[in-house]
Amino acid sequence: MHYQVLIVIFLLKTVKIIVVKRDTELDEAKKIADSILEARGKTVFFTGAGVSTESGIPDFRGPQGLWTRISPEIFSLDVFLQDPYDSWIQYIENIYKPVSKAFPNSAHRSIAELEAMGLVEAVITQNIDKLHQKAGSRRVIELHGSYDEVQCTKCNFKGKIDEHVQYVLESNAAPRCRICGSLLKPAVVYFGEPLPERELNEAFVLASSCKVMIVVGTSLTVFPAALIPRAAISSGAELFIINETPTPLDNQAILVIREKAGNFLPEVVEVIKEEVSSERG
Ligand code: NAD
Ligand code: ZN
Repeated sequence: MHYQVLIVIFLLKTVKIIVVKRDTELDEAKKIADSILEARGKTVFFTGAGVSTESGIPDFRGPQGLWTRISPEIFSLDVFLQDPYDSWIQYIENIYKPVSKAFPNSAHRSIAELEAMGLVEAVITQNIDKLHQKAGSRRVIELHGSYDEVQCTKCNFKGKIDEHVQYVLESNAAPRCRICGSLLKPAVVYFGEPLPERELNEAFVLASSCKVMIVVGTSLTVFPAALIPRAAISSGAELFIINETPTPLDNQAILVIREKAGNFLPEVVEVIKEEVSSERG
């Protein structure tokens, strides 16, 4: 066959593949959009590190994840207590610096937009990066704390982190509590620490009363957080998963989207806007 004919056949096939993929994506976006609309505000998002990778913050277990460079043990309470200064330096370099420079991406913005439209009740997040709040989400339940605060290892003291980061870098020592003199640590949940009780309770209440739960960018392997979508399923909610790699709950979801959250979620918002405006018109 002449090579020009081959090129034409190749191009036609490629265009067909692109069109088919596009149609499927739109069908999937429509399915999620319809469920969100039907839930009338009883939709809850459950997010993890994958919602922030497109903002330049690496996840833990993905191919470019943090665990490919450093050992998870660095962020355990035991290791922190053994060498608090070294642990602080690891935290500043690997978490504080990259996270404080990051901006929300279109996945965070889409979720915030849906909340502003009255369609999302809350975001339950395992992330500590504050990017949901920076995108405009108002009800955000942080299960693992926040990167920009410190807490005392003994008393209830909590404060902003910036001055303490400054102290660590200038005095080569871990900071201490101004109330009781004990060690201060970043206010994120380290391995071996319990999750904050109020947030965990609030998350379970939301999970057991929502109609739709949309899981975005989490491997669903960190416990007890990973129990939350399970609680939603047990209470009869529809589960949707948007994650680039398989999760243990894929077989319980109505739909699993293997796509970048920042590409897919804006499509859902677009479909919802079209449906709302055609209902009005
Ligand atoms: P994880 O690293 O275990 O899993 C992230 C998942 O997201 C992976 O399955 C990956 O395939 C998927 N993913 C990556 N990019 C994606 C994208 N653009 N679109 C869709 N899916 C994508 O993360 P986890 O389940 O959240 O657990 C890690 C723990 O570490 C969490 O508890 C969290 O507290 C913490 N963490 C937080 C941040 C952050 O605040 N941004 C970053 C890393 C880790
Ligand atoms: Zn104290």
